[in-house]
Amino acid sequence: MFYNSLGTSGLRVSRLCFGSLTIGPLQAGLSISAGASVIRRALELGVNFIDTAQCYDNYAYIRHALKGWPHRVIVASKSYDYTREGMARSLEEARREMDLELIDIFLLHQQETALTIAGHRPALEYLLEAKEKGLVRAVGISTHAVAAARAAAVMPEIDVIHPLYNQAGLGIIDGSREDMLAAITLAHNNGKGIYLMKALGGGHLATKARQSLQFALATPGVAAVAVGMQSLAEVETNVAWFSGREPSPELLAQVEGKKRRLHIGDDCQGCGNCLDRCSQGALQLVDGRVRVNEELCILCGYCAGVCQDFCLKVI
Ligand code: SF4
Ligand code: SF4
Repeated sequence: MFYNSLGTSGLRVSRLCFGSLTIGPLQAGLSISAGASVIRRALELGVNFIDTAQCYDNYAYIRHALKGWPHRVIVASKSYDYTREGMARSLEEARREMDLELIDIFLLHQQETALTIAGHRPALEYLLEAKEKGLVRAVGISTHAVAAARAAAVMPEIDVIHPLYNQAGLGIIDGSREDMLAAITLAHNNGKGIYLMKALGGGHLATKARQSLQFALATPGVAAVAVGMQSLAEVETNVAWFSGREPSPELLAQVEGKKRRLHIGDDCQGCGNCLDRCSQGALQLVDGRVRVNEELCILCGYCAGVCQDFCLKVI
């Protein structure tokens, strides 16, 4: 495994970041012990960086995976909270549920514009104070939007940016791949640590996985790439690619051709709550039920978290 400095944050991370959304209730719904085993395998193979979020509802998997692990692991989490009190609760929940003294990286989740970031100012102020107290090492944003990445790139108080970026530009909500690259370059030149999400376009680029990951890794200024994994075979394949090796044909056969999709349960009541959560505009109501446009859906699973009837799941 190769390791990089995450901007000027002082953190040194494996180029492969374990994207943990995939193991939890919004996606594979593995048992705690099965999901923790997948994370643990990644740690054994040199991964030292795990990405999670409050809304992934998967802190218990990470707590189990880290229990007794003797080496340092850098955990990044995120919260949608925009108030000081809400962010304080979010950080406390992350520390408690993962049994961690501090959370290395805490991000404002899914920011869209400079205005969105400004609207989260009280939460950001809380995180900066938490950083002063040693409860957080680095603060920043995650985003699918060029405008937010560009705005965060010039904010001195932002240490880390977690932008959506892939070779096809899939999922960027307000611009092209080139626009996002310009924002990433600006951020890197300003000392921000960059780790990417959705290098495989939420599964749309899965048939070109190796090439897509190499593209992401070759992006100037990128310290790491978060990849969602939910099986030992996926971990071993990605570790091989990120270490400059070829996985065995047997491993490749296990991971190739696995197509994911958003499953919508029959009991959808058509309340429309999930439409607001989808920044990709992939959901619409048709005849009183939600429908997904698979061309637009990046399989992030975020809509699943707001459906009180548990109708949505990435499978
Ligand atoms: S939130 Fe659930 S019930 Fe409401 S429209 Fe979406 S899928 Fe249907
Ligand atoms: S439909 Fe759901 S899974 Fe697909 S992009 Fe929108 S929020 Fe993500």
